[in-house]
Amino acid sequence: MTKRKYKAESKRLMEIMVNSIYTNKEIFLRELISNASDAIDKMYYKSLSDENLNFNKDDYYIEISVDSEERTITIKDTGIGMDEKEIDKNLGTIAQSGTLEFKNALEKEEKPSEIIGQFGVGFYSSFLVSKEVEVLSKKFGEDKAWLWTSDGVDGYSVEEGKKESHGTEIKLYLKDNSEDENYDDFLNEHRIESLVKSYSNYIRYPIKMLVTKT
Ligand code: ADP
Ligand code: MG
Repeated sequence: MTKRKYKAESKRLMEIMVNSIYTNKEIFLRELISNASDAIDKMYYKSLSDENLNFNKDDYYIEISVDSEERTITIKDTGIGMDEKEIDKNLGTIAQSGTLEFKNALEKEEKPSEIIGQFGVGFYSSFLVSKEVEVLSKKFGEDKAWLWTSDGVDGYSVEEGKKESHGTEIKLYLKDNSEDENYDDFLNEHRIESLVKSYSNYIRYPIKMLVTKT
């Protein structure tokens, strides 16, 4: 297992984000679905230039599953996935944009949650609701899968993982409930469904929902 620290800039950005967004924390779902959709788009574009690769529509979807016992939400896609280097680069460094710019923009914006996507920090919005995030990914055409884990504070670790087919699964361990915030709301399938409807209506791939009844 390789343990790595976040770059100082990334850490600072994450702190700013988590500390300035009190409402609309649910945008994490929009950001993760949009990343999943981008990853499937990449498979689609690949299929246009690779005659050995058929883009069979049924194979491409996004699946959201909720486990209320474990208090987890998992967003799975059958997109292009990431190899070890990509996981490290894409999830270990936040944005190219400067911390100061982001901070200023967050302060000016009435709805700070709206600019998360613009600053290329979408993935990190997972930490608005999670105490721990696991990303299991297998890049199309590769044999090995990789598991990235982080508590969003100090750093992250990457180790080899097990996954059958290409794509990515992002598992969010929800934060503990507090007086101000009840995260269990996100374990409610109707709530998730309505969020998906309002935020991700434009997504071109099927979004399935799996609920583990306990
Ligand atoms: P952005 O989407 O603006 O690039 P994000 O913080 O949302 O910023 O995501 C960072 C990067 O991580 C993406 O550009 C992509 O390369 C990678 N990534 C995130 N989620 C996935 C996913 N589900 N499948 C493949 N790559 C992903
Ligand atoms: Mg994104």
